[in-house]
Amino acid sequence: MDIIQNAINGQRVTSKSSNKVPVFNPATGEQSAELPLSSVDEVHAAIEAAKAAAPAWGDTPPLKRARYMFRFNELLNQHADDIAREISKEHGKTHDDALGEVARGIEVVEFACGIPSLLKGDFSRNVGPSVDTVADRKPLGVVAGITPFNFPAMVPLWMYPVAIACGNTFVLKPSERDPSAPMLVWDLFKEAGFPDGVLNVVHGDKQAVDALLDHPDVKAISFVGSTPIAEYVYKRGTDAGKRVQALGGAKNHMIVMPDADMDKAADALMGAGYGSAGERCMAISVAVPIGDKTADALVAKLKPRVEALKVGPASDSDAEMGPLITKAHQDKVLGYIDEGEKAGAELVVDGRGYAPQGYENGYYVGGTLFDRVTTDMSIYQEEIFGPVLSVVRAQDYGEAVKMINEHEYGNGTAIFTRDGDAAREFADKIEVGMVGVNVPIPVPVAYHSFGGWKRSSFGAHGMYGPEGVHFYTRLKTITTRWPGGIKEGAVFTFPS
Ligand code: NAD
Repeated sequence: MDIIQNAINGQRVTSKSSNKVPVFNPATGEQSAELPLSSVDEVHAAIEAAKAAAPAWGDTPPLKRARYMFRFNELLNQHADDIAREISKEHGKTHDDALGEVARGIEVVEFACGIPSLLKGDFSRNVGPSVDTVADRKPLGVVAGITPFNFPAMVPLWMYPVAIACGNTFVLKPSERDPSAPMLVWDLFKEAGFPDGVLNVVHGDKQAVDALLDHPDVKAISFVGSTPIAEYVYKRGTDAGKRVQALGGAKNHMIVMPDADMDKAADALMGAGYGSAGERCMAISVAVPIGDKTADALVAKLKPRVEALKVGPASDSDAEMGPLITKAHQDKVLGYIDEGEKAGAELVVDGRGYAPQGYENGYYVGGTLFDRVTTDMSIYQEEIFGPVLSVVRAQDYGEAVKMINEHEYGNGTAIFTRDGDAAREFADKIEVGMVGVNVPIPVPVAYHSFGGWKRSSFGAHGMYGPEGVHFYTRLKTITTRWPGGIKEGAVFTFPS
């Protein structure tokens, strides 16, 4: 049985903790590894290693730091297939989907290679007689990241390449459900030649997270996960005087206007609703067709597509989506389908009781489609995080916008239409952080930044891109005077 190791100060080390949890292959339901939950002392050792490495790394010229990042980028590209296999083994997503995840992570490393140009700072000559001002962005020191199960390679890569290129050192606490992909990526990071202690990985649960949140040497926390934990991390971290960015859950709506191309809208909903078994924070889980005619046409297009969805293990190259992450999560998603049915939603396609032949113990739920969902139902209000798409019929555009704006989450949203006016109005006014116009999953590219609104995100900064650089640096402004020939005595008024 594989034992998942930590990575501290440039070495893989086996935790001494006797508190262990199993890691499963969700495609088969079999245990694939064992993960020791690191003790507080082990987390402190990782922070110590990061702290010891921080001064020299922070003083390393940005271009030299970027050169390590270029090597890391090359290795990630060479091993993308291996990383994708590790993801699929413990997460369950299809190989192509896992490759897509790796590609979006690599994109952030590519961005990080260019970070020196964003650290240049501002310079103003002659802000006063013989006075010049330089505004500079300095690293924070030791920063930490806590990541969810659904993107075990990409979400950590949203964080540490940016933090490290900015001159910080990092402690990562990945999800305990699929820890092998982030460890393989750490091996590549080490192979790229970064100094020991620049990136450390500790596995664990709440105890490890709390140890990071409370430690005075950790200056900033990046978190991605569910909203209750994001809120907890934000409060505890900021109470301890840290900078915190904590991204949470989502319920993403897609409006389908009467003028939309229904085939394109239905195809978009299939990928965005059922890709990765709906376990994406940018998944579309609510379709909002405008008017009953549009709704009838859309549901008629969706039904055969959902019925034909190919669900299976990642080893089946025909599979379009895989199993859910754990048995507990499978039960939770099945419970939501029961609830939706009891609440009176029309179950158009029922994914309960599905398992591919030979994989009866895997955590599968088939594609599920509800029509005539109303906003008071739990399947509308809560994040299901499974392959369940709800159609909520709106009588007009205004009703759809009001519904989206009133939802507690505000991560992503989309509109499908041929009407430029409607699309522009929607993009401008909707209370959501990431908006797609005829784009169902509008995840910004690495040189923009990722972040939702409302209870999908706590803290002022988004992840990666310019927001990431600002989050992982603090501003220093230096005002310099070489007065030369100017003669003046003591000045007691405010400098102007
Ligand atoms: P989770 O909140 O259960 O876990 C996230 C991290 O927090 C893990 O590392 C976990 O070990 C840790 N954790 C869990 N319970 C904790 C506790 N009580 N105290 C301290 N730490 C704790 O989330 P998950 O199930 O791994 O991931 C799915 C969730 O993540 C979904 O809600 C999804 O929407 C969200 N997500 C959001 C984004 C985004 O960008 N907004 C991206 C990906 C996933």
